[in-house]
Amino acid sequence: MEIAVDTESREFWDGVAAGELRIQRCEACGHAVFYPRALCPSCHCDRLVWIVASGRGEVYSYTVAHRAFGEFATEAPFTVALVDLDEGVRMLTRIVGGTVAIGDRVELEFATAAGNQLPCFRPVA
Ligand SMILES: [Zn+2]
Repeated sequence: MEIAVDTESREFWDGVAAGELRIQRCEACGHAVFYPRALCPSCHCDRLVWIVASGRGEVYSYTVAHRAFGEFATEAPFTVALVDLDEGVRMLTRIVGGTVAIGDRVELEFATAAGNQLPCFRPVA
């Protein structure tokens, strides 16, 4: 799958290539921001800077895909989750290396999905 990199997301994808989970933080109000944007969704300021996230978070919700289509078909079953990062943003991601429940602690682990290196999360033992 070809990932469409644009002006707002380039730093995020450069981070993925470097093994870092990069998110934005607003210099005006301090809010963490994800997905990548040009303006802070909290105060509409354009002074967003990039930080490296801790890679730790908590499962907000998840589902297990038992059937998938296209390039994902051979990867089923897999777990898709919403993870609340400790920095305060929610991220759509995949769970690898185990099963989770809502509220479980997880940590960053890069994994390959549909041919792309992506930031995923694994359960914390
Ligand atoms: Zn702001």
